[in-house]
Amino acid sequence: MTPFAYRRATDAAAAVMDAAAPGARFLGGGTNLVDLLRQRVARADALVDVSMLPASIEVTPEGGLSIGAAVRNSTLAAHPHVRAHFPVLSRAVLAGASAQIRNMATVGGNILQRTRCAYFYDVDGARCNKRAPGSGCDARGGFTRYHAILGGSAHCVATHPSDMCVALVALDARVRVLGPRGERTMPLVELHRLPGDRPHLETHLAPDELIVSVEVPPLPAATRSAYRKVRDRASYAFALISVAAVLEVREGTIDTVRIAFGGVAPKPWRATRAEAALVAQRPTEALFREAADAELAAADPLSGNAFKPDLLRRTLAAVLRGLLERAA
Ligand SMILES: Cc1cc2nc3c(=O)[nH]c(=O)nc-3n(C[C@H](O)[C@H](O)[C@H](O)COP(=O)(O)OP(=O)(O)OC[C@H]3O[C@@H](n4cnc5c(N)ncnc54)[C@H](O)[C@@H]3O)c2cc1C
Repeated sequence: MTPFAYRRATDAAAAVMDAAAPGARFLGGGTNLVDLLRQRVARADALVDVSMLPASIEVTPEGGLSIGAAVRNSTLAAHPHVRAHFPVLSRAVLAGASAQIRNMATVGGNILQRTRCAYFYDVDGARCNKRAPGSGCDARGGFTRYHAILGGSAHCVATHPSDMCVALVALDARVRVLGPRGERTMPLVELHRLPGDRPHLETHLAPDELIVSVEVPPLPAATRSAYRKVRDRASYAFALISVAAVLEVREGTIDTVRIAFGGVAPKPWRATRAEAALVAQRPTEALFREAADAELAAADPLSGNAFKPDLLRRTLAAVLRGLLERAA
């Protein structure tokens, strides 16, 4: 690890000013960034610690959420309103990492954590367009069990690793950001980029833009929501695939449905085609499979992950079936 300056920010505006210094990076809980610095995958000349900024989880009068970026993952998962009204979010956070890491990790850091592609981390042995633009991609043709089947490119097939973001994208969450030019909000689903021919550009944020909070709009149907993660080990493993879903059926037809996938794309993947196939239809096993097929029409599996489309199809059907049974 190369030497760096360290500053603890006292408020969001001061953090943004400090982040204007060349080579400065925000530091949340450090559970990803510090590893990247130690392993020479990333470099920083200064770390602006934003983990101690005041942060709370507020329930809006309409029943939505305003979640401070410095809220720890474990605090978010345990919040009574989140557990009761947005179980998909609580379950997704609990599906990630370990209790110790969730106690350290912040909401802002979780959103901006980097991919777990092994070639990205292998600084001495592998080519990676994300780490060294234009160097090539050793994942293609390599070990691709964890890689993308949707949204990848010839230049990069790394997946976004967050579980929390998959639930937040299904819930239409927006991200509030503060930068030198003021504040703006954007839908979380638009924050991360697809790799195209510039995989090193991962988000639409500038380096000195601070995530201040995540806003989750009210969604009464989300009391009937679920998150299922399929992985190689029962705990402490990243997703092979994951499904976040909200399902509400009225008078025998699907009234509200929200679906997002994890582990299959370079960004948390909102499954709008699957949703369109389901809404206003009578829920059946065949329809669930058709919905998955609609989303997977664009899938481009690699030699190491050809199992993913069918795994995703079956997991989506199981999650929707479970929500339907609970409603009955
Ligand atoms: C062994 C292990 C297993 C894991 N398993 C999982 C898993 O199964 N599922 C999962 O989802 N995650 C998993 N994780 C990842 C973990 O969730 C992330 O490391 C964590 O969420 C990052 O949060 P942090 O606050 O520590 O971020 P940091 O490491 O501090 O920062 C990460 C990035 O976010 C930026 N950043 C931080 N806060 C802000 C802000 N407010 N505004 C702008 N930029 C900011 C930093 O500059 C940095 O680029 C695992 C991690 C480890 C080490």
